[in-house]
Amino acid sequence: MILPPGEQPEVSVVIPAFNEAESLRELIPAIVRVLDGAGRSFEILIVDDGSSDGTSEVSAGLARGDRRIRALALRRNFGKSAALATGFADCRGRFVVTMDADLQDDPEEIPAFLADLEGGLDLVSGWKRKRHDPLSKTLPSRFFNRVTARASGIPLHDFNCGFKAYRSEVCREITLYGEMHRFIPVLANREGFRIGEREVRHHARRFGRSKFGPSRFFNGFLDLLEVMFLAGGRRTPLHVFGRWGAWLLGSGILINLYMVALWITERRLRVRPLLLFGVILVILGVQFISIGLLAALIHAPGRRRTTYPVRSRIPEDSQPS
Ligand code: UDP
Ligand code: MG
Repeated sequence: MILPPGEQPEVSVVIPAFNEAESLRELIPAIVRVLDGAGRSFEILIVDDGSSDGTSEVSAGLARGDRRIRALALRRNFGKSAALATGFADCRGRFVVTMDADLQDDPEEIPAFLADLEGGLDLVSGWKRKRHDPLSKTLPSRFFNRVTARASGIPLHDFNCGFKAYRSEVCREITLYGEMHRFIPVLANREGFRIGEREVRHHARRFGRSKFGPSRFFNGFLDLLEVMFLAGGRRTPLHVFGRWGAWLLGSGILINLYMVALWITERRLRVRPLLLFGVILVILGVQFISIGLLAALIHAPGRRRTTYPVRSRIPEDSQPS
């Protein structure tokens, strides 16, 4: 289906790509085949995340050959979250599908994802039940998923799966920064969207290599702290720090009042361990509350980066909506 420029396609496929030239040559025609076969109008957005292996040239070539394919290139490598955020800001479809560029996800499954959305879900997240990745990745990943599911209360098995489908509102509402792409279902759940899961086939990587080292797990757990810290988006930093601060300050004051009572009744001033403890609690309590206040100021809405500089855009006249 050829779409007049400016008209809204049914489906936008957003593909973040960092050094994936060889894979893209196979992946893009496969997606076109599947969506044409399913009779869906679509656009494919390749977001080149500062690659140095010719990904940009390959994407540009594909975009020149088919107006439904668009190639965006970021000025440098900003990370997968930034690439996704750039694609989300630029895409026009009613449904948005994200896929990794590395051929590990199977385009054949896109229609099933779309059917799930039409069935009423807002976000369908892939589940790589049988993963073709090294054990050093699958084991920690299982642990990470268990902890995230437990902490967030969302019963998914594979939070970080790159293969997902969204109703476009979801992409507009969530803010991706840092490496928050791992927590998209948590962010979407927080906004009240309905989330489901779909088992997907997973293939071993054929070209290039994985872009994430062991630091992925360290960062993942730090980010989980941040995400859960503001669970539900209702708790502000001041609620969290303030509660701890109030407990510390309150206990410190009680202990010190007790010391004052002793001093009045016994008429003797003694430095006891308990007195020191009380004083420390008071100081810590005041500090916690002040940290909470500072965090509340910094946390103010609108302070987070959500757009990234695009170096080139093909076709050039395709503007973000
Ligand atoms: N990716 C990206 N920017 C980055 C790192 C990765 O756009 O800085 C893309 C990458 O090209 C791929 C997807 O994110 O399309 C997932 O990356 P990868 O396959 O390396 O992750 P893994 O499968 O090892 O979890
Ligand atoms: Mg991969």
